[in-house]
Amino acid sequence: MHSSLIFFELAETATKEELKKAYRVAASEAHPDHGGSTGEFIEVKAMYEEALKHVGVAATCETCNGEGFVISSRGFYSLRQTCRDCEGRGTVDRK
Ligand SMILES: [Zn+2]
Repeated sequence: MHSSLIFFELAETATKEELKKAYRVAASEAHPDHGGSTGEFIEVKAMYEEALKHVGVAATCETCNGEGFVISSRGFYSLRQTCRDCEGRGTVDRK
């Protein structure tokens, strides 16, 4: 996951709309009029532009519902296996 997404506390599966919302909150908090500073404000803006490149690229894996593993039952046993479609990441690249 990219650090810009962590900055806005967003998941890889976040949409541009979610990013915009998070950006507006962070930008208003970083604004000099609201106890922030110009430096902070510029940083938030730079993070936003970086994050724009990273949102909407991943989608929740439908095979495992984003869990990263699937349960297969065999008689009395249920086996927890790493999801093959997303290799345990829980997300797949959006096409
Ligand atoms: Zn999966």
